[in-house]
Amino acid sequence: MKFHAIIFDMDGTLTVPCLDFADIRTELGLVTEGDLVQQIAALSPEAQDRAWAIIERHEADAALNNQIQPGAREALQRFAARGIRLAILTRNSPQSIAAFMDRFQLPIEIAVGRDFEPLKPAPDPIWHILRQWQLEPTDCLMVGDYHHDLDAGHNAGTATCFFHNPGTTSFAHLADYTVASFTELEKLVFEVP
Ligand SMILES: [Mg+2]
Repeated sequence: MKFHAIIFDMDGTLTVPCLDFADIRTELGLVTEGDLVQQIAALSPEAQDRAWAIIERHEADAALNNQIQPGAREALQRFAARGIRLAILTRNSPQSIAAFMDRFQLPIEIAVGRDFEPLKPAPDPIWHILRQWQLEPTDCLMVGDYHHDLDAGHNAGTATCFFHNPGTTSFAHLADYTVASFTELEKLVFEVP
C-alpha cells in the first residue's frame, strides 16, 4: 500500500454536500467568486462579525442535518484496520467538527478546523497533521471535493484525490486521482502499489 495516511475534507467529502455556498454568498452580499475567508477579511470589522454570524448559522444547521457519504463509514473502518492514519482538514468551525465526530463516531484521529491558521490551501495544516504521525507528505493522500483541498495537498507535497459529487463542478484536472464514491476510493487506496 502506497498511503499510510489519508486526510479528508469534511463538507461535501465525508458528508453529502449540504452547505450551499452560493446561498451563503448571496446572504453575505458577496457577488464575486474568490476565497470566501479572504473576501470577508476585507470587510469592515462590523461587517466581518455579521458575515461570520451568518456562516456559523448555516454551519450549525448543516452540523445537525448533514449525512455521511454512502460507504464512508465502512471504508474508514477498513482503512483504520489496515493501519492507515485518518484525519479531517476543514475550514469549518471546531463546534461543527465536534458535532460531526459525535454523530458519526468515525475512526479519525486528528481533526483540524479554521482555528488553525493559515487555512488550506496553505500547506501548513497538512504538515501539522503529518508531523504528529511522523509521516512524510509522500505517505499521504489528501481527499476533497473542492480546489482548496487539492491545492493544499499539492502545496504540501501529498498525493491528491478529487471527490466528485454528482452534478458538481469538476476539479479533476487539479488532482492525481479522481473518485466518485467511497467504493472507488477504497479500490484506489488498496490497489495503488
Ligand atoms: Mg468540501
